[in-house]
Amino acid sequence: MKMHIGSSWVDKDERIEVHNPYDGSVVDTVPRAEASDIDHALATAVRGAEIMRGLTGYERYKILHKAADLISERAESFAETITLEGGKVKAEAMIEVERAAEIIYLSAEEAKRLGSEVIPLDGAPGVTGKFGFTIRVPCGVVAAISPFNFPLHLVCHKVGPGIAAGNAVVLKPATDTPLSGLRVVEVMLEAGCPPEALQCLTGSGAEIGDALVSDPRVRKITFTGSRDVGEHICRTAGLKKVTMELGSNSPVIIMPDADMNKVTTALASTGYAHAGQVCISTQRVYANREIYSDFLDAFTESVKGITTGDPRQEGVRMGPMIRESDAARVETWVQEAVDGGARLVAGGQRNGTLMAPTLLADVKPEMRISCDEVFGPAVGVTPVDDIDEAIAQANSTNYGLSTAIFTENLDWAMKFALEAEAGNIHLNWGTQWRADLMPYGGLKDSGMGKEGPKYAVEEMTETKMVVVHMP
Ligand code: NAP
Repeated sequence: MKMHIGSSWVDKDERIEVHNPYDGSVVDTVPRAEASDIDHALATAVRGAEIMRGLTGYERYKILHKAADLISERAESFAETITLEGGKVKAEAMIEVERAAEIIYLSAEEAKRLGSEVIPLDGAPGVTGKFGFTIRVPCGVVAAISPFNFPLHLVCHKVGPGIAAGNAVVLKPATDTPLSGLRVVEVMLEAGCPPEALQCLTGSGAEIGDALVSDPRVRKITFTGSRDVGEHICRTAGLKKVTMELGSNSPVIIMPDADMNKVTTALASTGYAHAGQVCISTQRVYANREIYSDFLDAFTESVKGITTGDPRQEGVRMGPMIRESDAARVETWVQEAVDGGARLVAGGQRNGTLMAPTLLADVKPEMRISCDEVFGPAVGVTPVDDIDEAIAQANSTNYGLSTAIFTENLDWAMKFALEAEAGNIHLNWGTQWRADLMPYGGLKDSGMGKEGPKYAVEEMTETKMVVVHMP
C-alpha cells in the first residue's frame, strides 16, 4: 500500500515489508517515510485543520457515519487484514472490526455534541452584570501514534474523535501492522473526509517520531504504546497537550469465596487473548491460600486446553506473538522465574513466534515475569493471606491500567474498588474488558488522559472562556 500525505497517496523508493507473524511470509510493503515527509504532511495538515474548522458538526457526523458503514460492510476483509499483519485469530479479529465500526459511530454522534457551558459568574463575590460562557474549539493538528496489537481498533479510537472534534489528524501506525490504519484512511476519504485532514505516514517511529512530535504545528499528541516510548515522546514534545495510553502488568485477586468456574473461564480469556499482547492482559494473579491449590488445578486444565496455531484456522484460540524476538523474551523471563524458584505448571516452550500458553505458580514479586510488562501469554500466580496483602501486592507496581477481584463479599469488593490503584477496576471478571464508550485510561506509569470517543473529543478540543461585561 502507499501512504497518504499532501492529500494524495504517495510511494517511496525505499519500502518496508509487512510480515505475517505466523509464517513470516510477506503480506505487503509500505513506503518508508523520512523527515522531509513529516514536513509535507504537517504543512498539509495545517490547511486541513482550517478546512475542518469550516465544517459543521452535522457534516463531520455524516462523514464519520458513512465511514463506519463502510467498515461494517467490509468487515470480513478488514478482519483478514488484521489476522494477516498482526497474527490475531479470526474470531478476535472480527470482534475488533465490529468494535472499530462502533467507535466511529460513537465518534459521529460526538461530532454533533460539541457544546459550550454557561458559567454563573454572579456566584463569585461582588460580581454583577457579567455573563460568561465557554466555547470549545478543535486543537488544530493532532498527531496520532498507534501500536501493533489493535491495528484497526486503536487507530479508530484516535482518528474518529480527532475528526469528530474538527481537527486534522496525522496518523503514524505501528510499522509491524500499518495496513489496517491505511485502510481506515481509505474509507474515511471515500466517506468524504477532506484529504488534507487525514495524513498517514508509514515508517519507523524511532526514525521519524521526534520530527513529528516536536514540531510546533502539532498541538495535540495522542499516543498508545509502551511506557518507555511514551515517556520519550513526552520529553521530546515540549508544550503540547498529550494523551498517553501506556502499558501494564495487570493484577487479579481471587478471594476464598470466589466462584471458581467463573474465575477460570474469565482468566483463560483475559490472560491469553491475542497471545497476551493486550495492554490489560491479566499477568499477575494473587490467590488466597485457602483456595490456592484448587485454583491452580482448575486453571492449569483451562490453560492446557487453549489450542494454538495458524490464526487463520477455525478452532485455533491463540496465534503467534508479533515478533520472534518478543516470543524469545517471554521464554527467557519464564525460564528466569523457574530458575528463581517459580513452578512451571503449563506451557513454557516456544516454536518460532508461537509461545505456548504458560502458567507459573509461586511467583515472587521481584521476578521480571511479575514486575515488568510481559505482553505475552504467561500468567504468574502468587499466594496471599488476606485482602490487605492482596491489595498491597496488586498495587506494588509502577503501572495502573486495569485490575480485578473475584469475591461475593461486598465489603472486600468495595475496599478493593476504593484502594486499587488503576484506571479500570473489575469486580468478578478479569482485567481485560472494555466497552468503547467508557472512559478508558491508566493511572501512574500507565499514562494520562482518557479514550472513549466522548472523553477523547474533550482531550482533542480546547476551551475558550468568554465574559460579556454588560452595562
Ligand atoms: P511501541 O513500541 O511503544 O510503539 C508504539 C508506536 O510508537 C508505534 O507506532 C511505534 O512505531 C511508535 N514509536 C516508536 N518509537 C517512537 C518515537 N521515538 N517517537 C514516536 N513514535 C515512536 O509499542 P508496541 O510494541 O507497538 O505496542 C505494545 C505496547 O503498547 C505495550 O506496552 C502495551 O501495553 C501498549 N498498549 C497500551 C494500550 C492502552 O490503551 N493503554 C493499548 C494497546 C497497547 P514503530 O512501530 O515504527 O516502532
